Amino acid sequence: MNARVSIDDARELWLHATDEELQRLAQGVRARYHEPNRATYMVMRIINYTNVCVAQCDYCAFYVLPNRPGGYVLSREAVFAKIDELLELGGDLVGFNGGFNPKLPLDYYCDLFAAVRARYGDRVEFYALTVAEFVFLADRAGLSYPEAAARLREAGVHWVTGGGSEILTEDFRKRHAKWKYTVRDYFEAQRAIVESGLKTTATMVIGFDETLDERLEHLERTRVFQDQCLRDGFEGLFSFLCWTYKPYGTAFGGTEISPREYRRHIALSRIFLDNVKHVRTSVLTQNEAAFRALDFGADDFDLPIEDEVTQKAGARIDLDLDGLLAIPRRLGYAVEYRRAERPGALVGT
Ligand code: SF4
Repeated sequence: MNARVSIDDARELWLHATDEELQRLAQGVRARYHEPNRATYMVMRIINYTNVCVAQCDYCAFYVLPNRPGGYVLSREAVFAKIDELLELGGDLVGFNGGFNPKLPLDYYCDLFAAVRARYGDRVEFYALTVAEFVFLADRAGLSYPEAAARLREAGVHWVTGGGSEILTEDFRKRHAKWKYTVRDYFEAQRAIVESGLKTTATMVIGFDETLDERLEHLERTRVFQDQCLRDGFEGLFSFLCWTYKPYGTAFGGTEISPREYRRHIALSRIFLDNVKHVRTSVLTQNEAAFRALDFGADDFDLPIEDEVTQKAGARIDLDLDGLLAIPRRLGYAVEYRRAERPGALVGT
């Protein structure tokens, strides 16, 4: 099947296609970009530099309000120690992710990222911020999104990922995260990030109370964004990563979705996002079950060694990396380490 599926087609597939049908269609789209029996991975660490946050998303078990006990900001030495440990474990990708801390100005971030770049060069690549944090920082600094992106580039940043997107519908934002950003802000910011020459990704989180139509709207907005990027000569979204909501310790609560539902959603995403090269499966939230998604259209995964945000909500991290890698191999995949792109061409362009 090479024709693009519509939202109505996707709804039909979700409601009526068997697992085998979804799998076959998804693997067909995967094969346009990747060898069938090959998958790539990275060893990475999320560094949660601060847990102080004013956004108060009801699905978050991580944040502490300003001036309350338990709030922290990591020292630079603590950040370096975490990166050193990641390197010792064979990883080379850091994702910085923290709360919306009103006491940390944009200069704090630029200084931190410049220090990481100066100390590690290209031995480590890092996802500097999520789009959600980027929106908050730019607004607080009184900068336009292009101006904020330029400041990050000057500090040696290459990547601002599409994290913090959860479900990109205005109604979902109002129900669960009304102080975080609007969907319109999110995509305006991400477009500025793309235009500035920084690299970026798409993400999604499922398993809250979102409806099928909201999931489809999220996928549609992502596909349209990528169409526009490609039309205008930009690479746009490097990848699409979907993970699952962990409900433990959150105000919203709830239960986790099943691995089967996750696999079906990965398949539907692979089929629908025919313009995004990589679809990534979440070992962080699905553990061993994540690897089955390689049979449902995913081609890439992370092996994370830390992420306090999801761990606080119940995620379990397995540091037996060899044991984890044995699972996709048993499924028939040759797995290869993928170094994060070091887009040297970006510097100064
Ligand atoms: S999800 Fe992020 S923005 Fe929302 S409350 Fe938690 S730390 Fe803050």
